[in-house]
Amino acid sequence: MTDVISSGIGMTSARTRARMVERLRSAGIVDAAVLTAMEAVSRHLFVDEAIASRAYEDSALPIGWGQTISAPYTVARMVELLKKGKKLGKVLEVGTGCGYQAAILARVAKEVYSVERIGQLLDRTRARLWPLKIRNLRLKHTDGTLGLPEAAPYDGIIVAAAATTIPEALLQQLAPGGRLVIPVGTHEQQLVVVEHGETGFVETIIEPARFVPLLEDTA
Ligand code: SAH
Repeated sequence: MTDVISSGIGMTSARTRARMVERLRSAGIVDAAVLTAMEAVSRHLFVDEAIASRAYEDSALPIGWGQTISAPYTVARMVELLKKGKKLGKVLEVGTGCGYQAAILARVAKEVYSVERIGQLLDRTRARLWPLKIRNLRLKHTDGTLGLPEAAPYDGIIVAAAATTIPEALLQQLAPGGRLVIPVGTHEQQLVVVEHGETGFVETIIEPARFVPLLEDTA
């Protein structure tokens, strides 16, 4: 992916991104491929120009329709948990939002499917992603609580919105050895990893999380 605004102008430059990656390292992110992807993808291209100067702060930012782009640490952490040090094959992301995490995933996985329930948000994201020419990413307007059966099973499923309970369809679409990374809970949320092991699904609670809710149905 080429950096459209790479000429070094202030808050959106490659140097600002390198500093963000240093902060991610200090915060405990160790996966080299994840750090490389975070350094390569221009996060400011995924938010409105008015807030582009804040794109490399470690915070969530508004992307319209009451939704947010997850903070850089959150994206890096979730993708690292999904990878577990391996190269990823086919991945499903639930909650495309502005497409930032999808762009990161496309750099560390062979094939990425990402679904979003808000049609207008997805239209804008498609327009934003188009010039980046990410060839291994497919987007679809659908309710991700049902997964995406047509491309299942997945080696990894990553959910960018908090579920009250883990959707059964997502477990069913997880390949043997596959991993699901999902925030679970309402007021108190936890980031949870579910592994599809030989003897069944193994759930591990990772750390507290804060996400917008995973809603059913499309809009
Ligand atoms: N990965 C995104 C984060 C977006 S926030 C990024 O990098 O910006 C979470 C997104 O999940 C929102 O856009 C919200 O509309 C979407 N979402 C919530 N419930 C959903 C569902 N059931 N299916 C698909 N998307 C959903």
